[in-house]
Amino acid sequence: MEIEPGRLKLFEAGNILHEFIIQVFKSEKNIDKIKFLESELPFKLDQKEFIISGRLDDIVIAKEDNKKIIVEVKTVRDVRFSIKPNKNHVMQLQFYMHATGIRDGIILYIDRTNLKTKAFEISYDEKHSLDILKRFKALHELLKNNVLPIDEAKQSKETLWMCNMCEYRAKCDRNEK
Ligand code: SF4
Repeated sequence: MEIEPGRLKLFEAGNILHEFIIQVFKSEKNIDKIKFLESELPFKLDQKEFIISGRLDDIVIAKEDNKKIIVEVKTVRDVRFSIKPNKNHVMQLQFYMHATGIRDGIILYIDRTNLKTKAFEISYDEKHSLDILKRFKALHELLKNNVLPIDEAKQSKETLWMCNMCEYRAKCDRNEK
């Protein structure tokens, strides 16, 4: 499936800004506070019936207390509106913390227009993580039975924007498998 040029540009802008953040983490200025550890770390979580795999953004170590922190970088149009972390981003980070055993995370929003940032600290929540795994299991069951999952993003104003970015939009609108 071809991705529209507009979306590709947005992804590319996201990649460039992510690279910029890595350089900031590695910068001499931050050497007393954090140590950059890894980026784009692949992980696999074996659920017996299926395997969940992915890649997580950046891992840094806070110098103050020597703890590992997963930093999930998200680009936004206007960081002033990021007054709390998006629940889908929290869900993603909780899952990463569960998959890696790292118990501290940060969602870092970066403004595409002026590079201003806002960070939200997130602690591991076992119950939330187990709920996320249940969602994976439910999806697995649907896929096994060749049943389309509910078009969840369309169900809430908060998540509807995802559909505008979704490459499966046309198929989804037609309820096509
Ligand atoms: S259009 Fe895409 S994001 Fe929206 S509900 Fe359908 S599959 Fe999900």
